[in-house]
Amino acid sequence: MVLGGPIILLILWLMTHAGTRWWLYVWAVWMAFSLLLAWAYPAIIAPWFNKFVPLDDAALRSRIESLLERNGFASRGVFVVDGSKRSGHGNAYFTGLGNNKRIVFFDTLLRQLDADEIEAVLAHEVGHFKRKHIAKRLALIALVSLAGLMLLGWLIDAHWFYAGLGVTEPSLAVALLLFLLVAPAFTVFIQPLVSWLSRRHEFEADEFAARQSDAGKLVEALVKLYRENANTLTPDPLYSAFHDSHPPAPVRIANLQAKQATVT
Ligand SMILES: [Zn+2]
Repeated sequence: MVLGGPIILLILWLMTHAGTRWWLYVWAVWMAFSLLLAWAYPAIIAPWFNKFVPLDDAALRSRIESLLERNGFASRGVFVVDGSKRSGHGNAYFTGLGNNKRIVFFDTLLRQLDADEIEAVLAHEVGHFKRKHIAKRLALIALVSLAGLMLLGWLIDAHWFYAGLGVTEPSLAVALLLFLLVAPAFTVFIQPLVSWLSRRHEFEADEFAARQSDAGKLVEALVKLYRENANTLTPDPLYSAFHDSHPPAPVRIANLQAKQATVT
């Protein structure tokens, strides 16, 4: 409510007052808001809900720091979050932009992994950073939202858009609401593309980890993660291709083992 309310009011104001190219101004505002949020989220918003402390493990520090330094990642950017507060699931992720970029380990994951495995998982997350996956994702969001707003700019004057969806009293606010409500039904074909791109990024990060660290240790970490989280190892291939942001574990492990074989 606090973040979204003012943005929606600003968007409705632009739709009313910014002329026929309102969609371009709305897009600029939306992108600025998204970038600000991507930058502010890890350091300002996420700490409202969880506690983040720098990863401070003497036994790990030197090897982690050398991995991070080799790859130009600030070593004060590795954090531990108290994920155990709400769940036993373990995870690690890379987030944020500019001086707020972070690699975050769940405390639950750190309890399950040994030092070699932690280093391998860290190398995977550094791979997301080195391959600029967050910037690529934001660029994709920018393109898709520009296309969506151009489409809305055209639909907003089309009577059939309202009549075809059962709306009898068109207005700007109704147009925006109707568009947001029905868009997912008409863009469902984009989902497999987004999932495919995300899985490709996972393979890239795994391949980076296999070169910079130990592929065998990443496999061990993945096995522990899947066991502890009770994730399925054999998802339906069609469902997985459509929805899954990460490749199935056996596929990732086979890929890592192939990389390991070429390295050694
Ligand atoms: Zn990943």
